[in-house]
Amino acid sequence: MPGRQYPACRQDMHCAAVHKTHNRNHRPIIMKTRHIQLREHQHQLARCHRCPDMQGPPIIGTAVLSPIMLIGQAPGSKEIHLHRPFAWTAGKTLFSWFAGIGLEEERFRSRVYMAAVCRCYPGKQPRGGDRVPAPEEIANCSNWLETELTLLRPQLIIPVGRLAISRFLAFRKLTEVIGDLHQHQVQGRSTDLLPLPHPSGASTWHRTEPGRSLLAQALQRLATHPAWRKVCAEKFEPKATG
Ligand code: SF4
Repeated sequence: MPGRQYPACRQDMHCAAVHKTHNRNHRPIIMKTRHIQLREHQHQLARCHRCPDMQGPPIIGTAVLSPIMLIGQAPGSKEIHLHRPFAWTAGKTLFSWFAGIGLEEERFRSRVYMAAVCRCYPGKQPRGGDRVPAPEEIANCSNWLETELTLLRPQLIIPVGRLAISRFLAFRKLTEVIGDLHQHQVQGRSTDLLPLPHPSGASTWHRTEPGRSLLAQALQRLATHPAWRKVCAEKFEPKATG
């Protein structure tokens, strides 16, 4: 007797707990939806202790299946206590940029997947300022990022800051990459990349020329990108949890 046919998973509808289909012997196969896989992924990430010199817990954004992925560098000391990415002064600047092109902070957090090169706080360096993550820490954390890229298959990636941008593009100066939309092969798929400078108050790059004009150009390109328009639309219904 043929097995019952179940509808395929559609990105624009809220998912059931699992989808069922049947193999050639009509045995049911349980297929987890991407959304459930993303939630399980975050559950495991939240318990990661791979890097002995990093300070946790790992900071994780909303589990939203978004066509846009923002990739920061690493959380700061405040984020570790507030348990949200970009939760302090740099975040205020970053979200003011996005609010200026149609998406204020809470809508951004619920509609754009926020990841980072490293999810834990690297701590202070001896001369002040936050320590730059070591290559092995970046390598350790890249597994988490790769899984998210696989699950989300983003149409647009917004890497924020030098460390995040260099994860995808080779460059010497930020002026070479900010202000333009780049096409890059991400896991074998052509993906749009729109790099932004780090919004840190300690950096003057985005507040002085030519950085200020290049940032404005980048935000203008972001505002007209189809993925940005999609997440800004009132009818956009992201699948999200807490
Ligand atoms: S930085 Fe990444 S890999 Fe290292 S402990 Fe934190 S979550 Fe795990």
